[in-house]
Amino acid sequence: LLRVQSLAKAFGGNKVLQNVSFDIQPGEIVGLLGPNGSGKSTLLNIITGFESADRGVIAYRGNAIQTLPAHRIVEAGIARTFQLPAMPEKMSVMEVAMAASTTHHGFWETLLGTGGVRAAERQAHAKATALLHELLLAHVRDLPASALSGGQKKLLGIVCALMGAPKMVFLDEPTAGVHPNLRNDIVSALKRLNQQGMTLVIVEHDMHFIREVCSRCIVLDRGHIVASCCPDELSSNERVLQAYLGGG
Ligand code: ATP
Ligand code: MG
Repeated sequence: LLRVQSLAKAFGGNKVLQNVSFDIQPGEIVGLLGPNGSGKSTLLNIITGFESADRGVIAYRGNAIQTLPAHRIVEAGIARTFQLPAMPEKMSVMEVAMAASTTHHGFWETLLGTGGVRAAERQAHAKATALLHELLLAHVRDLPASALSGGQKKLLGIVCALMGAPKMVFLDEPTAGVHPNLRNDIVSALKRLNQQGMTLVIVEHDMHFIREVCSRCIVLDRGHIVASCCPDELSSNERVLQAYLGGG
């Protein structure tokens, strides 16, 4: 589904990603791990068009996307969430969710196909309602989005990412700072989405989450991929241990 080849990125003299290559197969749930500052968010930013690579190729369904702007990448079917979601002051939770749908090409297709803003709006509203329900935000849908707790903002970030019906979603630490009860709900929601055919790449520090959710892990250390293995193999992988113990 996605092929990343020889990706490199530096900020000034700081080589944040070096020769990063990996494939993601359709239907996988891949965990992206690594110490703080190892380049995980930068990798997500580059794949989703929020940052440019210095070198390398990113192919989605065989098409090179590394020079496309972010909105074209969303249109192609790749969505993302942010590590630290910021929410607008004056919009309600429902309005923020609805706004995410208008960035999707499908909105205009719907508009032209079924004759009218109203129909498209009704569809977006129905979809937002369903997603807010699924991610446990139905009871706060009329509150200002900026008033949500940190964990709830993460959930709203996931709702927004899903409004465009993506094929592939990159999630940057979806459960960091989220209460364990809510965390379990996120886990079931992500598994459900995957069963419906969505491919997921999840940046995560929590090993329990990774064992529970991910079929494979990619481990970054100082901009290099040091392992690509199943979660059970992590604890016996020398290079992973070194990355996490700060050695070699
Ligand atoms: P964390 O687990 O803490 O979220 P991460 O693996 O997501 O870490 P990145 O955010 O990708 O790490 O950052 C990797 C390195 O790139 C860091 O040294 C960071 O300071 C640097 N960096 C990231 N974005 C920029 C930028 N826009 N300008 C300069 N340096 C940057
Ligand atoms: Mg990060």
